[in-house]
Amino acid sequence: MSQMLLVTLKPRLIKHIGPDPYEGSRDVESRLDADGVRFLCPVCYHDPPVGEVGTHVVICWFYGRVPDDMSPGPGRWVPSGEGLGVLTLGARPGGSDSVKLEGGCGAHFRVRDGVVDVLPDRGESAKQRRARRGTP
Ligand SMILES: [Zn+2]
Repeated sequence: MSQMLLVTLKPRLIKHIGPDPYEGSRDVESRLDADGVRFLCPVCYHDPPVGEVGTHVVICWFYGRVPDDMSPGPGRWVPSGEGLGVLTLGARPGGSDSVKLEGGCGAHFRVRDGVVDVLPDRGESAKQRRARRGTP
């Protein structure tokens, strides 16, 4: 599947409280309080076993909200849209509006108006991905 709703991927607005970006963050209600958003990987979500089990989390930090060297990076995005159902991750100045994971599954996608568009180029084939995840 190349397109899905962001809400399917259990997105949460997060505030960084460090030091580890995955453990060191807490959920916040308002985008104005948020430093970023986390959600399940839109590529791996559709691998067998489909769904949440075994699917890793993607964190996208918002531009200007966290130090440049904070992981994951170097990508940063400018959020817009009121609420996660219509969230857009826009390009920062001089940056890209797409999200590309370096290493691992190599997922590449955009988030616009609450819709995730998975882009065709990937760093890893479906077969490689299944092997890494230990699923047939
Ligand atoms: Zn993935």
